[in-house]
Amino acid sequence: MKILIVDDQRFVREAIKGDFMRIDEAPSFTFYEADSGNQAIEILTAKHDVPNQPFDLIIADLKMENGDGLAIINHMAATDCHTVPLAIVSASDKRTLELISQISIGLKLNLLGAFQKPINVAEIFTLIKAEKHNVSLVKVEQTISANFTESNITELINEDNLFLCYQPKVDINTKEITGFEALSRLCVQGDGFIYPDLFIPLVEQAGLSCQLAKLVLNQAISQWELCPELKKYSLSINISASDLLSDEFVNYVIDNFANNEVSLILELTESQHTINQEQSLQAIAKLMINDISISLDDFGKSYSTFERLGSIPFNEIKIDRDFILDIDQDPQHHAIAESIIALANKLNVKVVAEGVETRGILHLLQKLGCDLAQGYYFSPPIEGRYLKSWLNNYNTLLEDGKAYVGH
Ligand code: C2E
Ligand code: CA
Ligand code: CA
Repeated sequence: MKILIVDDQRFVREAIKGDFMRIDEAPSFTFYEADSGNQAIEILTAKHDVPNQPFDLIIADLKMENGDGLAIINHMAATDCHTVPLAIVSASDKRTLELISQISIGLKLNLLGAFQKPINVAEIFTLIKAEKHNVSLVKVEQTISANFTESNITELINEDNLFLCYQPKVDINTKEITGFEALSRLCVQGDGFIYPDLFIPLVEQAGLSCQLAKLVLNQAISQWELCPELKKYSLSINISASDLLSDEFVNYVIDNFANNEVSLILELTESQHTINQEQSLQAIAKLMINDISISLDDFGKSYSTFERLGSIPFNEIKIDRDFILDIDQDPQHHAIAESIIALANKLNVKVVAEGVETRGILHLLQKLGCDLAQGYYFSPPIEGRYLKSWLNNYNTLLEDGKAYVGH
């Protein structure tokens, strides 16, 4: 990864480099430094001795003598650098940073964010990974509309194309990680990701749901088994409610994963018709007897969810992110989240809030008595290969008493 760091203070540049080295193995980073906007522009126009290929990231201070951050922004907008991910860093107040963000967005730059000093390098690193996904998604989506159909989904659903990311679930009170949710992406010809909202409906239409679930289970469990540090964290897998109607699938899960060291949670999206069927109730009971936990996903989205909680002893419920994203703004969503949490507490069911993006929302949920949180505030879904370093970094912050502060 090629990173250009622009700051007039040498110790800041050194600190940023040091933080990057701690995130991942050092050889994967190549750093270039500039102590002013003008020097950065020279590097970008390849006047310096830099191989002429684009940077993967530019981190630029806003306030500098000899060309400030705005000069870099304007230069990037006017040249072919406008796609390079840019992180603006400054000691300025939030409103100034917001203004800079607006300008950069207006100039169609690939802005990762405008951050107050001191910056959290791990956060920027996570964003850049997520950003990479978005950029490639645009590329793929253009070709998918023509090529990605029900007929070729069968070819696409295989071990080589399946790519899992993992998002942490965090105990709201202790900030400790309790587990991870595996989220699927399809990677077509190594070219970029196709996200589940696009392919899951096709997978279900094509009757490939159990096949996908098995692939996800096998890949995720292998990742857990390869990495001893992960074993103490639960692993959540999304399955379709219709999968429970397949005896073959339920038996496969029990035969292969019931006595495994990994604590497995199956997340089931509510589907009134399917979950109520006698056969699914039997399947849920069978899985639970074999110590496989069942989580009710996207809770609150459809009708009669409350009654269901009383009749099926789910181990966990996840409040749908649409309620959580704006509970600090929308009194109705706040009221819904409040009653779901109260009910879950009464019934002794663990309750997870999805889509937690800000510290304010996290505090609100803590006050309401919510157990666990998942969302961009802690981390977007993380690629498997970065999971170990992300976890080490998070746990070090936690041990140092600097509970992860995200934004
Ligand atoms: P989900 O189970 O509700 O998963 C959480 C989704 O919310 C993920 O989207 C995640 O990236 C996104 N998310 C996480 N934190 C935040 C946040 O703070 N803000 C916002 N706005 N979004 C956040 P993703 O990965 O695109 O997955 C979408 C859905 O696709 C999942 O929703 C799940 O229902 C389904 N899915 C994903 N993987 C699989 C799979 O392997 N099998 C099946 N059957 N369904 C899957
Ligand atoms: Ca889920
Ligand atoms: Ca969900």
